[in-house]
Amino acid sequence: MQLLKKSAPFYKRIVALVMSVMFFTLTVFGVGAQTLAELQAQQSELQSQKDSVEAKLEQLKNDVAQKQEYMDEVYVQIDVVQQQLDVTRQEIDALNLQILELEESIADKQASIDENFELLKERIKALYKQGEASTIAIILNSRNLMDFTEKSEIMRAITAHDKDLIDRLTEQLLEIEDTLDKIKESKETLAAKKKDLDDKSEELSGYYDEAYAVLVELKGEQAIAEGHAHKIGVEMGYNEAEIAELEEQIRKQLEAERKAGNSSNVGGSGYTGTGNFIWPMPGYTYITCYYGSGGHRGIDVAGGGIYGKAIVASDGGVVTYAGWNDSYGYCVFIDHGNGYETRYAHMSQLGTTTGSSVGQNEVIGYVGSTGNSTGPHLHFEVIRGGSTTNPMSYF
Ligand SMILES: [Zn+2]
Repeated sequence: MQLLKKSAPFYKRIVALVMSVMFFTLTVFGVGAQTLAELQAQQSELQSQKDSVEAKLEQLKNDVAQKQEYMDEVYVQIDVVQQQLDVTRQEIDALNLQILELEESIADKQASIDENFELLKERIKALYKQGEASTIAIILNSRNLMDFTEKSEIMRAITAHDKDLIDRLTEQLLEIEDTLDKIKESKETLAAKKKDLDDKSEELSGYYDEAYAVLVELKGEQAIAEGHAHKIGVEMGYNEAEIAELEEQIRKQLEAERKAGNSSNVGGSGYTGTGNFIWPMPGYTYITCYYGSGGHRGIDVAGGGIYGKAIVASDGGVVTYAGWNDSYGYCVFIDHGNGYETRYAHMSQLGTTTGSSVGQNEVIGYVGSTGNSTGPHLHFEVIRGGSTTNPMSYF
């Protein structure tokens, strides 16, 4: 159903290969096919290496993206903490300014109190000169305001006004000192908060730096893996060119042989099938598409649970191709050496290699749905003298 008659260059190459098996001496065939088989095996090994490097690359890219996302999150947190730190610093600055102002005003008040105290003393001295205060000498020797106040019963009467002024100033001074204490307390709280924020910022920066170091490492690994994948790709390109060159060489030799009139010995490859075909799909006989239906080149065999089931060689022969094809997917072509060729397509896995000799009923691959296929099935072709025939006419 999937493989309609079309003349892709690939088939031409395969036909050339098959014909080379028929026409060439065993030595020429052997060297060419073996080299091709080796190259094809190498190519599939390189492909699987490339697949695994690419899987690793994919993983690394995910890791890098995750790390970067994490770093972005940490960065946002750092930014928040920095903003909090800025606010706290501004608050501390404002408090420092207030403290300065209060200290200044305390100094002013103190000066004012001192000044009034001096005035008071002057007045008391004046009173003494008038002989009105007998204990005035003691009072004048007062060490400070408190001392003075204790002794100033008499003074209250004399200098009530000055005393009131000093009391008021003292009260204001105490209030200012009280405010100053509170502000200093707030400043301490803020300083503690700032320290917490500094610690937090440092911790976050640590996480960020750690993540950055890992990221650099991951990117290094990524660069190495990319280089590796590139190298494999280049190697595969060289191999591909070599395969094409070999195929071209075989085609040219074939042409030369033909021109030399050496092309009559069909079936002379040395491998001869029994001439009887056996059913290639053990356990499954359900045909979903017959030969000739819409130009169908073979038959399609399907059925429940067929995926992964063994496909066997319908007759003995030599494998002229076991590998990948965009239409056939993983496929096997067998030349039976008697003018017949069979083809098995869309395999999930190959069970043989190009150049191998296989016996009738030998497992050559497993059912799949590779290439141009819409579901698991075996596409089976029988070719006689280079033309497709109806496979059902052999069973
Ligand atoms: Zn088919």
